[in-house]
Amino acid sequence: AETPTCPGAEPVGDRAPVLPVLGHDTPAPLFDGRRVPYANLDVAASAPALQAVGDRVTRTLPLYASVHRGAGYLSQVSTTLYESARATIGEFVGARPDDLTLLVRHTTDALNLLAGCVPAAADGTPGRVLVLDVEHHANLLPWQRATDATVLTGRGTVAATLEAVRAELAAGTAAGRGYALLAVTGASNVTGETLPVADVVAAAHDAGARVVLDGAQLVPHRRFSLAATGVDYLAFSGHKAYAPFGTGALVGRRDWLDAGTPYLAGGGAVRSVRVDGTDWHDGPARHEAGSPNVLGAVALAAACETLAAVDTVALREHEDALRARLVDGLEAIDGVEVVRLWPDAPDTVGVVTFTVSGWEPGHVAAYLSAEHGIGVRDGRFCAHPLLTRLGYRAGAVRASVGAGTAGEEVERLVAAVAALVADGP
Ligand code: PLP
Repeated sequence: AETPTCPGAEPVGDRAPVLPVLGHDTPAPLFDGRRVPYANLDVAASAPALQAVGDRVTRTLPLYASVHRGAGYLSQVSTTLYESARATIGEFVGARPDDLTLLVRHTTDALNLLAGCVPAAADGTPGRVLVLDVEHHANLLPWQRATDATVLTGRGTVAATLEAVRAELAAGTAAGRGYALLAVTGASNVTGETLPVADVVAAAHDAGARVVLDGAQLVPHRRFSLAATGVDYLAFSGHKAYAPFGTGALVGRRDWLDAGTPYLAGGGAVRSVRVDGTDWHDGPARHEAGSPNVLGAVALAAACETLAAVDTVALREHEDALRARLVDGLEAIDGVEVVRLWPDAPDTVGVVTFTVSGWEPGHVAAYLSAEHGIGVRDGRFCAHPLLTRLGYRAGAVRASVGAGTAGEEVERLVAAVAALVADGP
């Protein structure tokens, strides 16, 4: 089918990726036996590794040995690689001089770790955490399990949502049960929309609460700085930031992390162990027991270095153009609806979630894969409360773009959905 003409966005078919990624154009098998270059429009789930990351991992692979406690030459090299990766990752997200950068497995790990470090209230009950119902489960369930969490229903605009947040924080303070922490998304994994970070930080700090930002969808797409924004903690994942699986970071204020229960109990987290008691480290080691993922840290640091060096205006312009084309192209097709949360969101990253009238989301995703070699995500995106509240109980389809996405892939998706609708269920 012809790509529908859509007012608004320019066609993007001739746009090349801003950064080279591995696996781009892998031949994908179609149901009729043909093969076409794979179009990965599921980068919000996991982004392909940057070429630069692959090169760094290949160079580092022969060099790793035991880290931290080994005396040999390659142990020293490994320890240096690991600790300098930590410094690079912290620097990339604007860590303040006193902040800790903890290397963890992913965003889920980072937020669970922090949940175990939220200080108890004065009466000894668990610390209070305020969270919105728009969150990915990774930024909801840890608070519900380990703290005294209140889940606030998001409102139809950013302005109204922030007003509700301010009111709830103030009510906590007035009742003598002030919130310790406000946990919010940096960018929604369902709509790509963001909240104004400065307003979020002001709302929390005015009420004596700290802020943790779930940066999983933000950090790969926008330059972010803890120091510049005043955000207290940031969590993000390597595999969404063009590095492989198994590495992420929690970066932020030291005092809660140094006082919190060590996240993992074991070797490396201790100064000394007696049978009747343990002297735990402070600093990153406190929470990083066990042999660390040196290659993963090096890979994530390479991704951070590459993203730090890229022309951020060009990257943003690329991702915005692809997103605009997706939204306009899809909305120009009869029966396609794009999911929106906040019309007044100050910014939106390259995530577009949609439904196609008459088609189950799972069928749309299977069709795109089997007939067009396009990878998307379908379901409820680990955000069940939000999808339910917005009326998408059966889920939806999500396409997402990034630095490694070519415009041709976006055009293929729009044309494929148009063909599906034109051919009918
Ligand atoms: N937060 C958001 C906004 C996400 O999109 C995701 C992953 O989809 C997560 C958290 C969890 O990330 P991970 O699976 O890497 O822990």
